[in-house]
Amino acid sequence: MNIVVCVKAVPDPKEAGNIRIDPQTKTLRRANVPMVLNPLDKNALEAALQIKAAHITVLSMGPPAAGSIVKECLALGADKGVLLSDAAFGGADAFVTAHTLAMGVRKNGDADVVLCGMASSDGATEWVGPEMATILDMPVATMVREIISHDDTAWEVKAALENGYRRMKVRLPAVLTVTRDLNTPRTLSFSGIIKARKKKITQWGLDDIGVSAEMVGLKGSPTIVTEMRAIEKTRTVTFMEGTREEKAEQLVQKLVEVGVL
Ligand SMILES: Cc1cc2nc3c(=O)[nH]c(=O)nc-3n(C[C@H](O)[C@H](O)[C@H](O)COP(=O)(O)OP(=O)(O)OC[C@H]3O[C@@H](n4cnc5c(N)ncnc54)[C@H](O)[C@@H]3O)c2cc1C
Repeated sequence: MNIVVCVKAVPDPKEAGNIRIDPQTKTLRRANVPMVLNPLDKNALEAALQIKAAHITVLSMGPPAAGSIVKECLALGADKGVLLSDAAFGGADAFVTAHTLAMGVRKNGDADVVLCGMASSDGATEWVGPEMATILDMPVATMVREIISHDDTAWEVKAALENGYRRMKVRLPAVLTVTRDLNTPRTLSFSGIIKARKKKITQWGLDDIGVSAEMVGLKGSPTIVTEMRAIEKTRTVTFMEGTREEKAEQLVQKLVEVGVL
């Protein structure tokens, strides 16, 4: 069973204050912000690690610094680490990210299952998994919260819905995006870190994945972000006086005034 897990390097939320927006390209400046492994991708990797006898490749598209999260996944137990890194890949929107990753999956060989987090903690479009499935012409199950059964031909899963779940049987090869309810990711072990030292990261650029420069990065992105600005949150506090009933009455009036009710 060949499993490919897509893992994204995202800005460390603890350093959110240092994230800047490039005034020209309207994309995030990631250079001075430490990168961490996207939280939901830890659940995707854990799901793969729990499948016995699976050969696990982690695949990431990002700047050279994203190599650190690929190394972390190798230390957690992945067998192979691939970093898609090229200046031409910078500024990619969700569609082009999905396309570049899909070409990475193809170059890596036949994948039986492609696992992604349901969303990244920065862009959070939730589009990359389903778009990869379309490009790879594979079925997709999104928001998987339980793997009921799995074999070499199909996986049976429970996928989240707003008020419940869908039970699905997905024929392989397929793409699955996962939620945090699926499992509790393991943490790094000393022995895992030592073992990972010997594992080399395979790095592929534009020429390696056989895609034209028009199809990658900001240049190939159909989505143009025309404006990105931080929302100033202004809050005013109003204290209500009187009995409980009077306060409730005042609250209802306030909510009517501001159009909530
Ligand atoms: C604030 C903000 C708003 C944005 N709005 C848009 C928008 O409206 N439209 C648009 O097209 N793009 C948008 N982008 C750009 C988009 O976030 C990036 O293209 C991003 O690389 C892919 O989308 P995502 O992070 O939203 O992916 P999601 O679909 O949220 O990510 C789901 C999963 O896909 C995999 N994945 C995603 N990116 C990578 C990667 N680089 N390497 C490996 N695996 C990956 C991971 O498994 C991840 O868990 C926005 C970015 C930001 C920061």
